[in-house]
Amino acid sequence: MQKGKELAVEQVAVCMMGGVVVWVERARLAPLDAVMKKPRGEWPQFIEVDGEMINPSRVEGIFSAARMEEMQRRKNGEWQCFAGEWHDRFEKCRCEDPKKRDPRKVYRIGDKLFSVPMGKVAEWLKSNPQAEEAGR
Ligand SMILES: [Zn+2]
Repeated sequence: MQKGKELAVEQVAVCMMGGVVVWVERARLAPLDAVMKKPRGEWPQFIEVDGEMINPSRVEGIFSAARMEEMQRRKNGEWQCFAGEWHDRFEKCRCEDPKKRDPRKVYRIGDKLFSVPMGKVAEWLKSNPQAEEAGR
């Protein structure tokens, strides 16, 4: 149950209209969760979550720490490129295209396809002389 222990301390951000963010352990969201599953007309004015009083009708969303970081970066003008790296607003992406860095050639033996790294094609063909090029 080591994994469950980690999850128990996971913090999530309860974002309120007006910009207040309340960080609470995910496990302590249960009372808020339970209320939000009810029809809106049955919501109480306030719910106690981890010692804080929260007005459920003012909750804008509940987000993971990773999502919060992402939103903060976007707010700061950073952007995420194809490689998943964050860049400053005016920074150009110079990340390498993993497809270009590791080009592969596809071969067919019978009805099986093999994706062989470009640098190893010659060697691979020696031990698989029956292979046919499968395009791309
Ligand atoms: Zn990049």
